[in-house]
Amino acid sequence: MSTIFSQIVDGEIPARVVYEDEATFAFLDANPLAPGHTLVIPKEEYERLNDVPEDVASALYATIHALVPAVEDAVDADASTVAFNNGEAAGQEVPHVHCHIVPRFEGDGGGPIHAIAGETPDLSDGELDEIASDIETRV
Ligand code: AMP
Repeated sequence: MSTIFSQIVDGEIPARVVYEDEATFAFLDANPLAPGHTLVIPKEEYERLNDVPEDVASALYATIHALVPAVEDAVDADASTVAFNNGEAAGQEVPHVHCHIVPRFEGDGGGPIHAIAGETPDLSDGELDEIASDIETRV
């Protein structure tokens, strides 16, 4: 069963398409958080960023890089929040990697990306050092 986003890529479900190339696709979010709210996806289905191969990741970033200024200019935005909900626990509802480009406006009442945190942890220097070196050894 293909994802709703694959069905959009295949033209089975209508969408307001703003960009397409060999590997990536972008369209307006059906429930926009702001005018111009755009989703950028790899055409192939990968559930999480963790699953995306390097060549597709590069293509995806190139499309995001081109679209951010285009989206901001189109709606005369002051800025944008660019983010992935990467996995169900992070709020991802559609299991097909997608980048949200959400135009932002001075005084729009929205928060920074830091607003996603629930309770923030109180980590010691030792714990921070351990986490940093653990990540470093896994890249
Ligand atoms: P996420 O919570 O990160 O998985 O975001 C999924 C996004 O997909 C939401 O912002 C939805 O509004 C959007 N969405 C779901 N179905 C469609 C659709 N058919 N066309 C465009 N956007 C959609």
